[in-house]
Amino acid sequence: MKLLIDELETNKILSKEGFVQLIIGRTPELTQYLFEKSRKIRQKYYQKDVYIRGLIEFTNYCKNDCYYCGIRRSNRNISRYRLTKEQILQSCETGYHLGFRTFVLQGGEDNTYDDDKICDMVYSIKQKYPDCAVTLSLGEKSYKSYLSYYQAGADRYLLRHETASEEHYKKLHPSELSLENRKQCLWNLKKIGYQVGTGFMVGSPYQTPEDLAEDLLFIHKLQPEMVGIGPFIPHQDTPFAKERGDNGELTLFLLAILRLMLPSVLLPATTALGTIDSRGREKGILAGANVVMPNLSPINVREKYLLYDNKICTGDEAAECRHCLQQRMQSIGYHVVVNRGDFKPLGE
Ligand code: SAH
Repeated sequence: MKLLIDELETNKILSKEGFVQLIIGRTPELTQYLFEKSRKIRQKYYQKDVYIRGLIEFTNYCKNDCYYCGIRRSNRNISRYRLTKEQILQSCETGYHLGFRTFVLQGGEDNTYDDDKICDMVYSIKQKYPDCAVTLSLGEKSYKSYLSYYQAGADRYLLRHETASEEHYKKLHPSELSLENRKQCLWNLKKIGYQVGTGFMVGSPYQTPEDLAEDLLFIHKLQPEMVGIGPFIPHQDTPFAKERGDNGELTLFLLAILRLMLPSVLLPATTALGTIDSRGREKGILAGANVVMPNLSPINVREKYLLYDNKICTGDEAAECRHCLQQRMQSIGYHVVVNRGDFKPLGE
Protein backbone atom coordinates (compact mmCIF):
# COMPACT_ATOMS: atom_id res chain seq x y z
CA MET A 1 0.00 0.00 0.00
CA LYS A 2 2.84 2.43 0.69
CA LEU A 3 3.87 1.76 -2.88
CA LEU A 4 0.52 3.07 -4.06
CA ILE A 5 1.09 6.29 -2.15
CA ASP A 6 4.59 6.59 -3.62
CA GLU A 7 3.13 6.00 -7.06
CA LEU A 8 0.52 8.71 -6.47
CA GLU A 9 3.21 11.15 -5.37
CA THR A 10 5.30 10.49 -8.47
CA ASN A 11 2.60 10.26 -11.11
CA LYS A 12 -0.05 12.51 -9.47
CA ILE A 13 -2.64 9.94 -10.45
CA LEU A 14 -3.65 6.33 -9.86
CA SER A 15 -5.99 4.06 -11.76
CA LYS A 16 -9.57 3.83 -10.54
CA GLU A 17 -8.71 0.47 -8.96
CA GLY A 18 -5.65 2.00 -7.33
CA PHE A 19 -7.71 4.73 -5.67
CA VAL A 20 -10.32 2.23 -4.53
CA GLN A 21 -7.63 0.00 -3.05
CA LEU A 22 -6.07 2.92 -1.22
CA ILE A 23 -9.39 4.10 0.20
CA ILE A 24 -10.55 0.67 1.30
CA GLY A 25 -7.17 -0.43 2.58
CA ARG A 26 -6.32 2.65 4.62
CA THR A 27 -4.95 2.09 8.12
CA PRO A 28 -3.78 4.55 10.78
CA GLU A 29 -0.18 3.74 9.90
CA LEU A 30 -0.72 4.31 6.20
CA THR A 31 -2.57 7.52 6.95
CA GLN A 32 0.42 8.83 8.87
CA TYR A 33 2.70 7.93 5.98
CA LEU A 34 0.39 9.81 3.61
CA PHE A 35 0.07 12.87 5.89
CA GLU A 36 3.84 13.23 6.20
CA LYS A 37 4.05 13.49 2.44
CA SER A 38 1.03 15.78 2.02
CA ARG A 39 2.31 18.16 4.70
CA LYS A 40 5.74 18.31 3.11
CA ILE A 41 4.27 19.13 -0.31
CA ARG A 42 1.97 21.74 1.20
CA GLN A 43 4.91 23.37 2.93
CA LYS A 44 7.00 23.36 -0.22
CA TYR A 45 4.46 25.63 -1.91
CA TYR A 46 2.82 27.47 0.97
CA GLN A 47 5.19 27.06 3.92
CA LYS A 48 3.19 27.39 7.14
CA ASP A 49 0.86 29.99 5.63
CA VAL A 50 -2.89 29.66 5.96
CA TYR A 51 -5.06 31.69 3.59
CA ILE A 52 -8.36 33.04 4.83
CA ARG A 53 -11.50 33.78 2.84
CA GLY A 54 -14.40 35.82 4.16
CA LEU A 55 -17.57 33.92 3.35
CA ILE A 56 -20.65 36.09 2.80
CA GLU A 57 -23.79 33.97 2.57
CA PHE A 58 -25.94 36.52 0.82
CA THR A 59 -29.16 34.59 0.13
CA ASN A 60 -30.75 31.39 1.37
CA TYR A 61 -33.45 31.36 -1.30
CA CYS A 62 -32.87 28.50 -3.70
CA LYS A 63 -34.79 27.23 -6.71
CA ASN A 64 -33.15 23.83 -6.45
CA ASP A 65 -34.17 20.91 -4.32
CA CYS A 66 -30.99 18.91 -3.66
CA TYR A 67 -31.87 16.12 -1.23
CA TYR A 68 -28.96 16.80 1.13
CA CYS A 69 -29.18 20.55 1.46
CA GLY A 70 -30.88 22.47 4.26
CA ILE A 71 -31.76 25.48 2.11
CA ARG A 72 -33.47 23.39 -0.62
CA ARG A 73 -36.67 24.97 -1.90
CA SER A 74 -38.95 22.36 -0.30
CA ASN A 75 -37.77 23.19 3.19
CA ARG A 76 -40.63 25.22 4.64
CA ASN A 77 -39.03 25.34 8.08
CA ILE A 78 -36.56 28.09 7.44
CA SER A 79 -36.97 31.78 7.31
CA ARG A 80 -35.57 33.07 4.05
CA TYR A 81 -33.43 36.19 3.66
CA ARG A 82 -31.57 38.21 1.07
CA LEU A 83 -28.78 40.67 1.77
CA THR A 84 -28.80 44.04 0.04
CA LYS A 85 -25.80 45.34 -1.81
CA GLU A 86 -25.21 47.72 1.09
CA GLN A 87 -25.21 44.88 3.61
CA ILE A 88 -22.77 42.93 1.46
CA LEU A 89 -20.46 45.92 1.16
CA GLN A 90 -20.70 46.42 4.90
CA SER A 91 -19.59 42.83 5.45
CA CYS A 92 -16.63 43.43 3.13
CA GLU A 93 -15.74 46.55 5.08
CA THR A 94 -15.74 44.62 8.35
CA GLY A 95 -13.76 41.85 6.69
CA TYR A 96 -11.19 44.15 5.17
CA HIS A 97 -10.32 45.57 8.56
CA LEU A 98 -9.93 42.07 9.91
CA GLY A 99 -7.38 41.24 7.21
CA PHE A 100 -9.50 39.44 4.64
CA ARG A 101 -8.31 39.95 1.06
CA THR A 102 -10.72 37.49 -0.53
CA PHE A 103 -14.49 37.75 -0.31
CA VAL A 104 -16.61 34.79 -1.25
CA LEU A 105 -20.21 35.48 -2.21
CA GLN A 106 -22.16 32.30 -1.75
CA GLY A 107 -25.86 31.61 -1.95
CA GLY A 108 -28.66 29.42 -3.10
CA GLU A 109 -29.66 29.70 -6.74
CA ASP A 110 -31.76 32.82 -6.42
CA ASN A 111 -32.80 34.51 -9.66
CA THR A 112 -33.85 37.65 -7.82
CA TYR A 113 -30.20 38.54 -8.20
CA ASP A 114 -30.09 38.77 -11.98
CA ASP A 115 -26.84 39.15 -13.90
CA ASP A 116 -26.92 42.93 -13.70
CA LYS A 117 -27.28 42.84 -9.92
CA ILE A 118 -24.46 40.31 -9.53
CA CYS A 119 -22.19 42.27 -11.85
CA ASP A 120 -22.96 45.44 -9.96
CA MET A 121 -22.06 43.80 -6.64
CA VAL A 122 -18.83 42.35 -7.99
CA TYR A 123 -17.88 45.60 -9.66
CA SER A 124 -18.60 47.65 -6.54
CA ILE A 125 -16.53 45.37 -4.32
CA LYS A 126 -13.61 45.44 -6.73
CA GLN A 127 -13.82 49.25 -7.03
CA LYS A 128 -13.72 49.68 -3.31
CA TYR A 129 -11.14 46.97 -2.60
CA PRO A 130 -8.93 46.68 -5.67
CA ASP A 131 -6.40 44.64 -3.72
CA CYS A 132 -8.97 41.91 -2.97
CA ALA A 133 -10.13 38.87 -4.88
CA VAL A 134 -13.82 38.16 -5.36
CA THR A 135 -14.97 34.56 -5.46
CA LEU A 136 -18.48 33.61 -6.52
CA SER A 137 -20.38 30.48 -5.55
CA LEU A 138 -23.84 30.89 -7.04
CA GLY A 139 -24.42 27.55 -8.69
CA GLU A 140 -25.14 26.72 -12.31
CA LYS A 141 -25.44 29.64 -14.74
CA SER A 142 -25.10 30.09 -18.48
CA TYR A 143 -21.77 30.73 -20.19
CA LYS A 144 -22.94 34.25 -20.89
CA SER A 145 -23.70 34.92 -17.22
CA TYR A 146 -20.36 33.53 -16.05
CA LEU A 147 -18.61 35.66 -18.65
CA SER A 148 -20.40 38.81 -17.50
CA TYR A 149 -19.41 38.23 -13.85
CA TYR A 150 -15.82 37.68 -14.95
CA GLN A 151 -15.84 40.86 -16.97
CA ALA A 152 -17.24 42.70 -13.97
CA GLY A 153 -14.13 41.61 -12.06
CA ALA A 154 -14.83 38.26 -10.41
CA ASP A 155 -11.62 36.28 -9.98
CA ARG A 156 -12.68 32.84 -8.84
CA TYR A 157 -15.69 30.53 -8.89
CA LEU A 158 -16.60 27.63 -6.62
CA LEU A 159 -18.90 24.93 -7.95
CA ARG A 160 -18.58 21.51 -6.42
CA HIS A 161 -19.42 18.75 -8.87
CA GLU A 162 -20.87 16.92 -5.78
CA THR A 163 -20.26 13.45 -7.25
CA ALA A 164 -18.75 12.40 -10.56
CA SER A 165 -20.83 9.26 -10.91
CA GLU A 166 -24.03 9.60 -12.95
CA GLU A 167 -25.86 7.00 -10.93
CA HIS A 168 -24.86 8.53 -7.61
CA TYR A 169 -25.69 12.04 -8.84
CA LYS A 170 -29.27 10.92 -9.46
CA LYS A 171 -29.57 9.66 -5.90
CA LEU A 172 -28.62 13.07 -4.50
CA HIS A 173 -30.56 15.34 -6.85
CA PRO A 174 -33.99 15.61 -8.42
CA SER A 175 -34.22 14.79 -12.12
CA GLU A 176 -34.15 18.39 -13.33
CA LEU A 177 -30.50 18.61 -12.29
CA SER A 178 -27.84 16.79 -14.26
CA LEU A 179 -24.22 15.93 -13.72
CA GLU A 180 -23.61 16.70 -17.37
CA ASN A 181 -24.68 20.32 -16.97
CA ARG A 182 -22.75 20.72 -13.73
CA LYS A 183 -19.57 19.49 -15.42
CA GLN A 184 -20.21 21.68 -18.45
CA CYS A 185 -20.44 24.69 -16.14
CA LEU A 186 -17.03 23.83 -14.73
CA TRP A 187 -15.46 23.59 -18.18
CA ASN A 188 -17.08 26.90 -19.13
CA LEU A 189 -15.69 28.59 -16.04
CA LYS A 190 -12.22 27.28 -16.87
CA LYS A 191 -12.44 28.46 -20.43
CA ILE A 192 -13.45 31.96 -19.37
CA GLY A 193 -10.37 32.21 -17.19
CA TYR A 194 -11.61 31.94 -13.61
CA GLN A 195 -9.59 30.22 -10.92
CA VAL A 196 -11.99 27.32 -10.54
CA GLY A 197 -12.89 25.28 -7.50
CA THR A 198 -14.78 22.03 -7.51
CA GLY A 199 -15.29 19.28 -4.94
CA PHE A 200 -17.66 16.87 -3.28
CA MET A 201 -19.12 15.75 0.01
CA VAL A 202 -17.46 12.83 1.77
CA GLY A 203 -19.82 10.14 2.97
CA SER A 204 -22.92 11.40 1.23
CA PRO A 205 -25.71 8.81 1.15
CA TYR A 206 -25.12 5.87 -1.23
CA GLN A 207 -21.53 6.93 -1.91
CA THR A 208 -19.16 4.02 -2.59
CA PRO A 209 -15.34 3.91 -2.73
CA GLU A 210 -15.74 3.56 -6.50
CA ASP A 211 -17.68 6.84 -6.58
CA LEU A 212 -14.90 8.55 -4.65
CA ALA A 213 -12.36 7.16 -7.12
CA GLU A 214 -14.46 8.68 -9.92
CA ASP A 215 -14.43 12.00 -8.08
CA LEU A 216 -10.64 11.93 -7.90
CA LEU A 217 -10.31 11.01 -11.58
CA PHE A 218 -12.66 13.81 -12.60
CA ILE A 219 -10.72 16.30 -10.49
CA HIS A 220 -7.50 15.16 -12.08
CA LYS A 221 -8.99 15.74 -15.51
CA LEU A 222 -10.35 19.18 -14.64
CA GLN A 223 -7.13 20.35 -12.91
CA PRO A 224 -8.95 22.93 -10.77
CA GLU A 225 -7.11 25.60 -8.77
CA MET A 226 -9.25 24.87 -5.69
CA VAL A 227 -10.93 21.77 -4.29
CA GLY A 228 -13.53 21.93 -1.53
CA ILE A 229 -14.36 18.70 0.23
CA GLY A 230 -16.10 18.25 3.54
CA PRO A 231 -18.04 15.58 5.36
CA PHE A 232 -21.70 15.14 4.53
CA ILE A 233 -23.74 16.11 7.60
CA PRO A 234 -27.48 15.38 7.69
CA HIS A 235 -29.95 18.24 7.96
CA GLN A 236 -33.12 17.53 9.92
CA ASP A 237 -35.52 19.00 7.35
CA THR A 238 -34.26 17.11 4.30
CA PRO A 239 -34.98 13.64 2.90
CA PHE A 240 -31.56 12.64 4.25
CA ALA A 241 -32.35 13.60 7.84
CA LYS A 242 -31.81 10.07 9.10
CA GLU A 243 -28.66 9.31 7.13
CA ARG A 244 -25.27 8.85 8.75
CA GLY A 245 -22.80 11.70 8.99
CA ASP A 246 -19.40 11.47 10.68
CA ASN A 247 -16.79 11.00 7.98
CA GLY A 248 -14.00 13.10 9.41
CA GLU A 249 -11.31 10.50 9.17
CA LEU A 250 -12.06 9.72 5.52
CA THR A 251 -12.25 13.44 4.70
CA LEU A 252 -8.75 13.96 6.10
CA PHE A 253 -7.44 11.00 4.14
CA LEU A 254 -8.92 12.39 0.92
CA LEU A 255 -7.55 15.89 1.61
CA ALA A 256 -4.09 14.35 1.75
CA ILE A 257 -4.65 12.38 -1.46
CA LEU A 258 -5.73 15.61 -3.17
CA ARG A 259 -2.56 17.35 -2.01
CA LEU A 260 -0.46 14.62 -3.64
CA MET A 261 -2.54 14.75 -6.81
CA LEU A 262 -2.56 18.54 -7.16
CA PRO A 263 0.52 19.69 -5.23
CA SER A 264 -0.17 23.43 -5.25
CA VAL A 265 -3.97 23.34 -5.09
CA LEU A 266 -5.89 25.70 -2.78
CA LEU A 267 -7.49 23.29 -0.36
CA PRO A 268 -9.79 24.45 2.43
CA ALA A 269 -10.23 22.81 5.79
CA THR A 270 -13.98 23.32 5.70
CA THR A 271 -16.49 24.50 8.26
CA ALA A 272 -18.25 21.13 7.92
CA LEU A 273 -15.03 19.44 9.04
CA GLY A 274 -14.89 21.82 12.00
CA THR A 275 -18.50 21.00 12.77
CA ILE A 276 -18.12 17.24 13.20
CA ASP A 277 -14.82 17.52 15.08
CA SER A 278 -13.95 20.47 17.32
CA ARG A 279 -10.38 20.32 16.03
CA GLY A 280 -11.37 19.31 12.51
CA ARG A 281 -9.97 22.35 10.77
CA GLU A 282 -6.61 22.02 12.53
CA LYS A 283 -6.49 18.38 11.52
CA GLY A 284 -7.36 19.38 7.97
CA ILE A 285 -4.41 21.77 7.83
CA LEU A 286 -2.14 19.05 9.19
CA ALA A 287 -3.40 16.70 6.46
CA GLY A 288 -2.38 19.18 3.74
CA ALA A 289 -5.10 21.85 3.56
CA ASN A 290 -4.02 25.50 3.29
CA VAL A 291 -7.22 27.57 3.38
CA VAL A 292 -9.94 28.33 5.92
CA MET A 293 -13.16 30.15 5.14
CA PRO A 294 -14.64 31.82 8.21
CA ASN A 295 -18.07 33.34 8.08
CA LEU A 296 -18.42 37.06 7.39
CA SER A 297 -22.19 37.17 7.04
CA PRO A 298 -24.06 39.59 9.31
CA ILE A 299 -24.71 37.86 12.60
CA ASN A 300 -28.52 38.11 12.37
CA VAL A 301 -28.71 35.89 9.26
CA ARG A 302 -26.19 33.21 10.20
CA GLU A 303 -28.69 30.90 11.84
CA LYS A 304 -30.64 30.94 8.59
CA TYR A 305 -27.92 29.65 6.32
CA LEU A 306 -27.82 26.10 7.58
CA LEU A 307 -26.90 23.61 4.89
CA TYR A 308 -26.57 20.95 7.62
CA ASP A 309 -27.27 20.58 11.35
CA ASN A 310 -25.13 21.95 14.20
CA LYS A 311 -23.08 24.31 12.05
CA ILE A 312 -20.39 26.05 14.10
CA CYS A 313 -19.78 29.77 14.64
CA THR A 314 -23.33 30.89 13.84
CA GLY A 315 -23.41 33.06 16.95
CA ASP A 316 -19.97 34.63 16.70
CA GLU A 317 -19.03 38.04 15.44
CA ALA A 318 -16.69 38.06 12.46
CA ALA A 319 -13.89 39.41 14.60
CA GLU A 320 -14.27 36.57 17.09
CA CYS A 321 -14.07 33.98 14.31
CA ARG A 322 -11.04 35.66 12.86
CA HIS A 323 -9.16 35.67 16.15
CA CYS A 324 -10.29 32.21 17.10
CA LEU A 325 -8.91 30.85 13.82
CA GLN A 326 -5.66 32.69 14.23
CA GLN A 327 -5.20 31.04 17.61
CA ARG A 328 -6.18 27.65 16.31
CA MET A 329 -3.63 27.88 13.50
CA GLN A 330 -0.93 29.10 15.86
CA SER A 331 -1.64 26.18 18.18
CA ILE A 332 -0.43 23.83 15.43
CA GLY A 333 2.49 25.98 14.29
CA TYR A 334 0.82 27.64 11.31
CA HIS A 335 -0.23 31.26 10.77
CA VAL A 336 -2.94 33.21 8.99
CA VAL A 337 -1.60 35.57 6.32
CA VAL A 338 -3.10 38.81 5.04
CA ASN A 339 -3.08 38.55 1.26
CA ARG A 340 -5.26 37.43 -1.63
CA GLY A 341 -3.89 33.94 -1.43
CA ASP A 342 -3.87 33.17 -5.13
CA PHE A 343 -3.14 29.81 -6.65
CA LYS A 344 0.54 29.12 -7.31
CA PRO A 345 1.15 27.27 -10.53
CA LEU A 346 3.50 24.29 -10.19
CA GLY A 347 7.15 25.13 -10.33
CA GLU A 348 6.86 28.57 -8.69
N1 SAH B 1 -25.79 27.01 -4.58
C1 SAH B 1 -24.35 26.95 -4.65
C2 SAH B 1 -23.74 26.83 -3.26
C3 SAH B 1 -24.05 25.54 -2.60
S1 SAH B 1 -23.69 25.44 -0.89
C4 SAH B 1 -23.96 25.82 -5.56
O1 SAH B 1 -24.81 25.16 -6.11
O2 SAH B 1 -22.76 25.61 -5.75
C5 SAH B 1 -22.04 24.87 -0.91
C6 SAH B 1 -21.80 23.39 -0.72
O3 SAH B 1 -22.30 22.91 0.52
C7 SAH B 1 -22.48 22.47 -1.71
O4 SAH B 1 -21.78 22.45 -2.93
C8 SAH B 1 -22.48 21.12 -0.98
O5 SAH B 1 -21.38 20.31 -1.39
C9 SAH B 1 -22.33 21.53 0.48
N2 SAH B 1 -23.45 20.97 1.29
C10 SAH B 1 -24.78 21.13 1.07
N3 SAH B 1 -25.49 20.42 1.96
C11 SAH B 1 -24.60 19.77 2.76
C12 SAH B 1 -24.71 18.84 3.84
N4 SAH B 1 -25.89 18.43 4.28
N5 SAH B 1 -23.57 18.39 4.42
C13 SAH B 1 -22.37 18.82 3.98
N6 SAH B 1 -22.21 19.66 2.95
C14 SAH B 1 -23.30 20.14 2.34
